[in-house]
Amino acid sequence: MRYGGNTLCVEVRTADGTLLILDAGSGLFPLGRHLQATESRPLQVHILLSHTHWDHIQGLPFFAPAHEAGNRVCVWAPKEPKRSIKDLLESQLLFSNAPYHLESMAGQFRFRELGEEEFRIGEVRIKTQFLNHTVLCLGYRIEADGQVLVHCTDVEPHLGRLLRRDHRDSGRRLRDRSAMRAGILHREDARLVSFAQGADLYIQDSMYTAEEYVSRRGWGHSPCDFATDVALAAEVRRFVIFHHDPDHGDEFLEEMIESCRERASQYEAPPQILGAREGLELDLSVCP
Ligand SMILES: [Zn+2]
Ligand SMILES: [Zn+2]
Repeated sequence: MRYGGNTLCVEVRTADGTLLILDAGSGLFPLGRHLQATESRPLQVHILLSHTHWDHIQGLPFFAPAHEAGNRVCVWAPKEPKRSIKDLLESQLLFSNAPYHLESMAGQFRFRELGEEEFRIGEVRIKTQFLNHTVLCLGYRIEADGQVLVHCTDVEPHLGRLLRRDHRDSGRRLRDRSAMRAGILHREDARLVSFAQGADLYIQDSMYTAEEYVSRRGWGHSPCDFATDVALAAEVRRFVIFHHDPDHGDEFLEEMIESCRERASQYEAPPQILGAREGLELDLSVCP
């Protein structure tokens, strides 16, 4: 009721009006309606997909601007070895599943396939990095207007925890966030921290509690304590707990968020920690 039930979709606006959309879950449906009502035409939209799991693409067929002639939708996604992204997205619109195809939608689609690389959309600089998920999945580091937003979902730790020595067991307060980097156990987890380094806004999959994660290893999602440690080690300014488990109610989520704040509060200058919820708006030019 408070955090919302739509699947993943984040709107990003730069100062010059460039519109990026991170993932196309069911949240893309209300965003599309909003854009229809508020934007001048033709609309130019860039959708950056982390991967093609259902919860990240199911809004695309119902994105109203894509049904309007003249609008342009560019979809960026990881390059699969055997199938094109267009082919993968069309497979959710097979005749038995939906009454239309991407081809029959009135807007103009373009597709761009990505590996680990850097590119630009207008004045926006974007860097990609593969994440530890069940399928090919990309994180995006987006730099514009002197601000950095890093979006990493869906992602799982390589070793279940980030640090060699858990600060709760150490018997003393570890106060220096930058010193956490020295304790990272796995090369790929260190790469994740480097990717997020210094972000003004860090959005990371934090689906489970540490206790839940024990029976969900290999599912491709993070326990929230790991995500908090990445945010701490990367010295981000704001951290958003993201990709909520649909079985978690509002109170449960609030306890999770509070436990992450408590964990982070043991460090000097902890990031502001928020739980993602529908309609949440953050202005990165304003210090938390
Ligand atoms: Zn996934
Ligand atoms: Zn997902």
